Amino acid sequence: MHNADPTPESSQILHCDAAVIGAGPAGLMAAEVLAAEGAAVHVFDAMASAGRKFLLAGKGGLNLTHAEPPPAFAARYGARSTQIEPLLQQFGAQQLRDWAHALGVETFVGSSGRVFPIDMKAAPLLRAWLQRLRQQGVQFHMRHRWQGWAQGGALRFSTPSAALQVRARAVVLALGGASWPQLGSDGAWAPLLAECGVDVVPLQPANCGFDTVRPDGAAGWTPLFAERFAGQPFKSVAVRFEDHQGRSFARKGEFVATATGVEGSLVYAFANLLRDEISARGQATFWLDLLPNHDAERVAAEVLRPRGSRSLSSHLKGRLGLDGIKAAVLFEQLGRDGMHDGAALARAIKALPVTVVAPRPVAEAISTAGGVAWDVLDAHAMLKALPGVFCAGEMLDWEAPTGGYLLTACCAQGRAAGQGALRWLAQQQSTR
Ligand SMILES: Cc1cc2nc3c(=O)[nH]c(=O)nc-3n(C[C@H](O)[C@H](O)[C@H](O)COP(=O)(O)OP(=O)(O)OC[C@H]3O[C@@H](n4cnc5c(N)ncnc54)[C@H](O)[C@@H]3O)c2cc1C
Repeated sequence: MHNADPTPESSQILHCDAAVIGAGPAGLMAAEVLAAEGAAVHVFDAMASAGRKFLLAGKGGLNLTHAEPPPAFAARYGARSTQIEPLLQQFGAQQLRDWAHALGVETFVGSSGRVFPIDMKAAPLLRAWLQRLRQQGVQFHMRHRWQGWAQGGALRFSTPSAALQVRARAVVLALGGASWPQLGSDGAWAPLLAECGVDVVPLQPANCGFDTVRPDGAAGWTPLFAERFAGQPFKSVAVRFEDHQGRSFARKGEFVATATGVEGSLVYAFANLLRDEISARGQATFWLDLLPNHDAERVAAEVLRPRGSRSLSSHLKGRLGLDGIKAAVLFEQLGRDGMHDGAALARAIKALPVTVVAPRPVAEAISTAGGVAWDVLDAHAMLKALPGVFCAGEMLDWEAPTGGYLLTACCAQGRAAGQGALRWLAQQQSTR
């Protein structure tokens, strides 16, 4: 451990059993496991209060987990399901719901299988959780930014007053990803760990929006479209996508037009494929079905039906219910001539190509892909290069769609890291 240590002699020193750095769901779970076994736990966070991103997640309704069967649940972690499934067997969706219940927060399963607290909010759950942790003796140190290790191996923190060094017998790092850095998780830990020989896969946006290009290669939407429709949803549409390796995605849902492209739940659901395709090929094109409940024959028949003196837009609205953003995006992509070619228009309504060229920056994303590589951890979530240092949560190299899969895995990993740290503390005790 050798990050530079500019002010060792002016630092105060604190000694403890376990230091948990990061007061998000992963860190708080680790602290809970450690404190339950009587360890003296100190939690440090750069922000003024704990769980800022958790609270934000509760803003549109806290989707805590998902009620689908465990094998389908585990498959959501894609290439990382092998590593994450055993953790979910210890602490998965049901255990998370039971845990919330024990904190006085009942949950319910929504129509899509997503699980929410009855009141949809994160704040009551977080409040009860922090209160129980304090009762267990966990000590919180807010506005303490971890800055690496001092030469002797102590953790270095900057605080609003003096610098602080912490000598902990076990350390859990739960520093989050790099999305929404204004809430504390800024990914600044990545170079600190890389410097210590820990392999960190570059952090990338996940569950993110994308910038589009128009058929003529110009960036984004036309100014007219962006001005009128940015922020508006494409509702009840479907998308299809196949990447150059034959990986495919097809689903109904909705997404939103932004000033420069697209974002929202349906886009997030295959954002990993789009991102990887852009990285391999420079761009990715998905096919948008604007009327998934109408078959192609019916659409063609209605488009080609004589419209008399009616304008094309009233014809599309009257015969197919196509108006607003859906009609505008057709015009945007086909241009005036294309709109008056009935066969081309009918085809486009069922399969409009939308080309994306760049994911939006990770700071705007819901979550982060990349992070600490799994193979640098041992079976107990400890960094092989840094004995006694454990990692959990979004800072590890995995990703998952929205739907409660992010929080569930963060909590499961936090518990695993807490258990790993306990085991380590016990081993240290027995060799003293
Ligand atoms: C808008 C939005 C909505 C979301 N909604 C949902 C949802 O409904 N369901 C779901 O499952 N997931 C959701 N997520 C994702 C979920 O919130 C995250 O995956 C989860 O919070 C990650 O937990 P974590 O503990 O790993 O990291 P974080 O919650 O990011 O916590 C990391 C903590 O580490 C601290 N930290 C970082 N660096 C330092 C440092 N150097 N020194 C000290 N402290 C540091 C940060 O201040 C932060 O408090 C949402 C995310 C966003 C942005």
